Amino acid sequence: MTEQIDDLDPGSFIAEANEWLQDNVPQRWRENRGALAETEAVAIRREWDRQLFRAGYAGLSLPSEFGGQGLGLAEEVAFSELAARAQAPDGLARIGRILTAPTLIVHGTANQQDRFLRPILEGEEIWCQGFSEPGAGSDLASVSCRAEKVAGGYEITGRKIWTSFATYADRCLLLARSSADAPRYRNLSMFLLDMKQPGISISPIRQISGGTHFAEVHFDHVFVSDDDLVAGEGDGWKVAMTVLTNERGGVEAASRYVEIRADMDLLLESCGDNSRLADRLADLDRRTDLVRWQIAKAVTLETDESAFVNATSVLKVLWSELWQEITELGLRTSTPKHRDHWRFQYLENRSCTIFSGTSEIQRNIISERVLGLPK
Ligand SMILES: Cc1cc2nc3c(=O)[nH]c(=O)nc-3n(C[C@H](O)[C@H](O)[C@H](O)COP(=O)(O)OP(=O)(O)OC[C@H]3O[C@@H](n4cnc5c(N)ncnc54)[C@H](O)[C@@H]3O)c2cc1C
Repeated sequence: MTEQIDDLDPGSFIAEANEWLQDNVPQRWRENRGALAETEAVAIRREWDRQLFRAGYAGLSLPSEFGGQGLGLAEEVAFSELAARAQAPDGLARIGRILTAPTLIVHGTANQQDRFLRPILEGEEIWCQGFSEPGAGSDLASVSCRAEKVAGGYEITGRKIWTSFATYADRCLLLARSSADAPRYRNLSMFLLDMKQPGISISPIRQISGGTHFAEVHFDHVFVSDDDLVAGEGDGWKVAMTVLTNERGGVEAASRYVEIRADMDLLLESCGDNSRLADRLADLDRRTDLVRWQIAKAVTLETDESAFVNATSVLKVLWSELWQEITELGLRTSTPKHRDHWRFQYLENRSCTIFSGTSEIQRNIISERVLGLPK
């Protein structure tokens, strides 16, 4: 990936994408993103999704028969890295694009693919992911939000928490318990729930960094039709595993890598001549490179599913813990010039060892599934 991104051969995908990003990332976002009012930031992020679609950069690695660009994961990862370097906005359609779309391609009916894929890629329908609950975060099999069978569909009653983008979402990829007595892992179902209907109440939750990116959501007898059940009743666990594999994959890591590298470079610039920190800085710098190499390795394994999952399993722990160490050192050694930056980064990325699977859970996965250690 390193070589690919830096090789800007005229006419290549990388060169064209880079040029497009340089010309199209909104100046106002690039220069003021930390200071924008939430409504303006949301408007820019929504429009960014539409711009990506119009320019042919939405769904790069999705097959063309589903409205994607039919390219590979390498292009998707490369674009993600270029976009982060160009300080492009993070569109609001990301859950739809990264989680819902690939999941529907694997498990959805032709009707669901027809109905949902295009509006996701166009940036016209925003999705949220309703998995976590107060009593079911790491242990998703304990989801207790109920889906009761009624004529023509199901009625959803229960509570979800930490639901990113819930305030703006048109649809929710919702995991609910559809059977009280089926065995564990066979009692859950996945739904494509319409968020704009009565019975749904959304309470935003403020984060330590000041933002309100997520919310608590209550469902009170909310209808979802049979047509919006993914795979079959009781297949929710299987579908959720597809979602989580995409959530922890290389595309997410590539965009994080750029921010981590920028923070690492800032740290080297401000403390590089401090001999007491030399070993520590060298260690952090080497590990930043390691994240990039691991992403590049994962991309080469795209066609070997189990090797790919193994390679991406370690990525989440690698980048999230490294970034926390970098921002902690940045905050500890910061001068007034960069104090606001380090304070924000430090607070904001407290959450990255929690979302998409905590570090402890990721370590369990690495030890049991990748290394085959006994439970
Ligand atoms: C910024 C952010 C955005 C999020 N967005 C979403 C979203 O859009 N949709 C959504 O559904 N969820 C979302 N989440 C929720 C996230 O997926 C959960 O917070 C996460 O899975 C952990 O669940 P929990 O908070 O219930 O912690 P718990 O599962 O209660 O864990 C508490 C602690 O116990 C440890 N632990 C638990 N089980 C084990 C075990 N078996 N072995 C070792 N240690 C264990 C955990 O590592 C953790 O340290 C988001 C979270 C954050 C922070």
